[in-house]
Amino acid sequence: MAEAFDALIVGGGAAGLMCALTAGRRGRRVLVVEHANRVGKKILMSGGGRCNFTNLGAGPDNYLSANPHYCKSALARYTPWDFVAMVERHRIAYHEKELGQLFCDESSKLIVRMLLEECAAAGVRIEVGCGVERVRHGPGGFHLDTARGVFSAPALVVATGGLSIPSMGATGFGYDIARQFGLNVLPTRAGLVPLTLSGKHAERFHDLSGVAFPVEARCNGQSFRNRMLITHRGVSGPAILQISSYWQPGDDLRLDLLPAVDAFDWLRQQQAARPAAELKTVLADALPRRFAQRLCEVWLPNRPMRQFREAELRGIAAQLADWPLVASGTEGYRTAEVTLGGVDTDELSSSTMMARRVPGLFFIGEVVDVTGWLGGYNFQWAWASGHAAGEAL
Ligand SMILES: Cc1cc2nc3c(=O)[nH]c(=O)nc-3n(C[C@H](O)[C@H](O)[C@H](O)COP(=O)(O)OP(=O)(O)OC[C@H]3O[C@@H](n4cnc5c(N)ncnc54)[C@H](O)[C@@H]3O)c2cc1C
Repeated sequence: MAEAFDALIVGGGAAGLMCALTAGRRGRRVLVVEHANRVGKKILMSGGGRCNFTNLGAGPDNYLSANPHYCKSALARYTPWDFVAMVERHRIAYHEKELGQLFCDESSKLIVRMLLEECAAAGVRIEVGCGVERVRHGPGGFHLDTARGVFSAPALVVATGGLSIPSMGATGFGYDIARQFGLNVLPTRAGLVPLTLSGKHAERFHDLSGVAFPVEARCNGQSFRNRMLITHRGVSGPAILQISSYWQPGDDLRLDLLPAVDAFDWLRQQQAARPAAELKTVLADALPRRFAQRLCEVWLPNRPMRQFREAELRGIAAQLADWPLVASGTEGYRTAEVTLGGVDTDELSSSTMMARRVPGLFFIGEVVDVTGWLGGYNFQWAWASGHAAGEAL
């Protein structure tokens, strides 16, 4: 005998919980089925344990999708301020770190607790440690065969997230459900992920692991100005994580190593001020000393500044401002923060997140082909898409 609900939600992450509490508040009988032993594991580990739960500047331009217009409606109807209002209602202290990024003062546990309290108040039932064996569709709507029995409802919401960090419960189950119902799934790949270097490129950096400095990373018409960190496998840090979502093996990736200054003007000033200083010494004022030294060992001529002619300084400045980074790949889903690609938005209504060809079947959050930048944008998409579906159930 199946237990009946108005809506079944597979996945108790950010999007699933937001959808559940929204529909529950509207009087719907909602069941969340989560296969991990607790809900919201990615929320708990996010933002270094402090959850960067939204970004005040979140807008369509901060998302990658085959259809950049798709996310507009949901983002407009559930804004960062709507989420902030809930956070404030629960008296969770928060602060803006940089660039509109809001973090908890204390712990991301408070965000999960808030979502669970809201779900409880809205009468949502949550089953954790409950794997789904099969999804069936037929008379009576959607049926989930689980280890705890069969659950049925006229609506099924898929909120299973992406493939990143498999150790936290990530699976490709949501994509499988989409395919089961004949929906197109766009190729997936790791996003917001460290890049790896190999061969001579790795050798030149490998002993500089831990060195960090601001750069502007540019690729395929996008640029991000932030910190880069050299790791033992390649490069990471916010600038690299951001640009990684726009990069694929073989693409041209450039770094401005002195993003805060006009490199030529600065070198000329240095030449006038310290003609006897060598280039590596001068560069060490603007870059970490070991990195400046390596630049001059491998790529740049190291001489006293007075010996450079203007054309040479222009050449050095051009190299510093447009330095090619030859990455071999990414660290993959093991360390990626998000998954690019996913359920094709052409298959879904942008106002309700429901599959156009399968009434009652919804996809929300990261499983959909909408991926945000680093900085709270991915949670904002999870909240907004979860809310949009929750209003439609
Ligand atoms: C280390 C890390 C840090 C991050 N930090 C931030 C940050 O600070 N700010 C930000 O905006 N974004 C951050 N992100 C991205 C953000 O966590 C995700 O974009 C967001 O959680 C997506 O929400 P979701 O609900 O779609 O998926 P998830 O939150 O991943 O939830 C999916 C849920 O579905 C469950 N599930 C999967 N398969 C099944 C199945 N077969 N049956 C039942 N349940 C299933 C999973 O266990 C999980 O609970 C971070 C990601 C990582 C990995």
